[in-house]
Formats: sequence, C-alpha cells, structure tokens
Amino acid sequence: MTIYTFLKSSPCPLQRGTFPPTSQKTTTINYLNYIDIHTHTYYQDLETTLILNVFPNEQDKLQLPAYFSIGLHPWYVYEKSWEQLVDQVRSAACDNKILAIGESGLDKAIANSYEIQRLAFIMQLVIAETLKKPLIIHCVRSYSEMLAIRKKSDQSVPWIFHWFNADEQISRELIRKNCFLSFGHMLFTEQSKAFGVFRSMPLDYVFFETDDAGYTIQEVYERAAGIRKSSVADLKAKILDNFGRCFKR
Ligand SMILES: [Zn+2]
Repeated sequence: MTIYTFLKSSPCPLQRGTFPPTSQKTTTINYLNYIDIHTHTYYQDLETTLILNVFPNEQDKLQLPAYFSIGLHPWYVYEKSWEQLVDQVRSAACDNKILAIGESGLDKAIANSYEIQRLAFIMQLVIAETLKKPLIIHCVRSYSEMLAIRKKSDQSVPWIFHWFNADEQISRELIRKNCFLSFGHMLFTEQSKAFGVFRSMPLDYVFFETDDAGYTIQEVYERAAGIRKSSVADLKAKILDNFGRCFKR
C-alpha cells in the first residue's frame, strides 16, 4: 500500500471566484495495487483504485465508493444544452472525490459541431486549470488540434489521453507537453498504433484503463507486462508512481 498526501482546497475556488485558494489543509488517501484510470462501469475490487467516469446527468454515481472524473463528452455536445451541462460540470467539480475533469475532448468521427465541441472542451480545460485537476481526454482524429491547444496556452495540469491510439511522433510530442497516455483494449490488437507506441515508450507517462471495452484491469496489466517483458508487480509500482506525479497538487 502506498500513501499519497494531497492538498485539499477549501472552499472551492470556482465557487468563491478567486484563485489560488487562501486556506489549504491536507488529507490522506490510500491507494492500492492496480489503477484503472478510466472506466464507465463501477466495480468492486479491493486491489484496484478506479476513476469512474461520470457524465453531468449521472451524478447519482457520485455516491459510490470510488474516485471520479466528471465531464461533458463530445458525443453529448449539443447546441441547445452544452453550456448548461458544462455549468453542471463546473458546480460538481470541486468535490474532493472528483480527481479529474473529463472525459472531454474532440471527435471528428461524429456529426456534432466541431466548433461547439471545441468551445465545450476549452471551457472544461479552464475548470481543470482553475482547480488544478488533470483532464481526461477523448480524442478521435484530433491529435494535431489537441497539440495546438496544448502548445498555445500556458497549461500546468497534466492531460491523460484515454484510449490513446496515434503514432510515435505524436506520443513523443504529447509526453514532452506533460501528457499521459492511457492504454487498454488496443494492446490486444498488434496492428494498432497504440500497440506499436506502447512497445517502446517511456513508462513514466503510461496509465491503464478498462473504459467499457470488456477486459479487466488485471488482464490489461498482464498483457502490458507481456508486451514489455516486464512483471505485473513492476508495472503496478510504476503506474502507482505515475499516479502520484499526475495527481499531486
Ligand atoms: Zn470512456
């Protein structure tokens, strides 16, 4: 078991309207072996710390004994409702059980307006930066746009590209910009870009996830250990260390 100490801000800077918070106190959270950085389905496993994704209309999930990310997914960005839904993200985001904002991002494979997707993403980026919470990113055919946004503004919070599936050059550029890459079911497809990148990338910027893809987090770690000719125990230690770096405030 590893113990990380987090700084907890009180009251929430978004609600108070000033930043940084003037009063801070420490709270201690314990983390166990496996880390599932992104799942849509709650499951109980004493050996796993999971970050359960919550959409704005799913806030009853926040009662579950887990950690969370909350965000407006680009699939649900509609002209009439997106601003209200981002407001809901903003007012929920201060909760200390919510470790990250997202999944949020850009997706060129859907019909929703790309410009509105971009606005919704930027607004959630501001929430993440204000609260100093990492951002979990959904990115489909939009890596160059993401890199451009990341390069343009002065952002300090790490971004976690969930379901990462791009080439090595993009992975290197993202890592240089303090972004983490999360791998899951794509590791089971040897022809995927994700598989090719994962084989040789620095493990300092890796996370693993189940998303909703049908593999358990144990299966993903075992697969990853096989690809890297490493042990699951070594990977657990590495990912735990990454988690501490990424979520340290
Ligand atoms: Zn997801």
